[in-house]
Amino acid sequence: MTTRLYTHPVFLEHLTPPGHPERPDRLRAIERVLDDEAFSALDRVEAPEGDEATILYAHPEDFVGRVRAAIPESGIVSIDADTSASPKSWQAAVTAIDAANAAVDDVFEGRAANVFVAARPPGHHAEKATAMGFCLFNTAAIAARYAQEKHLAERVAIVDWDVHHGNGTQDIFWDDPSVLYCSTHQMPLYPGTGAKSETGAGNIVNAPLAPSTGSDTFRDAFLSRVLPSIDAFQPDLIIISAGFDAHHRDPLAAINLTEDDFDWATGQLMERAGRHSGNRLVSLLEGGYDLQGLAFSVAAHVGRLMKG
Ligand SMILES: [Zn+2]
Repeated sequence: MTTRLYTHPVFLEHLTPPGHPERPDRLRAIERVLDDEAFSALDRVEAPEGDEATILYAHPEDFVGRVRAAIPESGIVSIDADTSASPKSWQAAVTAIDAANAAVDDVFEGRAANVFVAARPPGHHAEKATAMGFCLFNTAAIAARYAQEKHLAERVAIVDWDVHHGNGTQDIFWDDPSVLYCSTHQMPLYPGTGAKSETGAGNIVNAPLAPSTGSDTFRDAFLSRVLPSIDAFQPDLIIISAGFDAHHRDPLAAINLTEDDFDWATGQLMERAGRHSGNRLVSLLEGGYDLQGLAFSVAAHVGRLMKG
């Protein structure tokens, strides 16, 4: 078994206004770096069509209807100040969910050692009934609930190392102790949530990082807060909300990680997945807005996943 990679051409067709950081070129940069011979053993699969109704695992029907109604027939419309939709955005968002759910199937049914989903739009800012922060639906949250519904997972851990706090994932699981949500993120920074004091039903673990810090504070947060929480929770599946905007080159934040830190964090979570989760590990792309920082970080992350 090897690492599986899900992509789909429609992910390039979710369009944002000129100059917007969350742009199709992000995926082109990832495609280019993973084209290298070092990744020839990757099991590359086009995201399959799934069951659209799984969106309702994390979002109420009237909200889903509002997002669908907002999709334009041409051009680009604003959903909020920094979130937009184009004609193919619905299909892109749904296909991202289909890919994440398929990745969950793969690790539960033994088709892959682990899986990376290179999709956009991202998801972790989407709250139960609010699309925001470049996100329409919360892909990671839906995939966690899908693992519980379809594969009877009792406990799912979502680890979010995107530099922004995943307010949406926290909102969706705020009173649901069957899902552990652990986040490292810069604070203060958009969206403003993610204080240590926000603990939900005891299942929310926030590890805010001060601006201008780097590897040491990130690894300390992982070792002192994230990993012990996973050990205590003993998840049946680990999902990574894998944003790479804590890289030092990223224009949207001021945390100074390098690709080595993403390699290290990936290894730590693989070790925990081996210890608690039958190695079941699914990684979903979130942010990362410097094309070189993103590409090198994804290469380090996927390279580590492939080492098994
Ligand atoms: Zn981010």
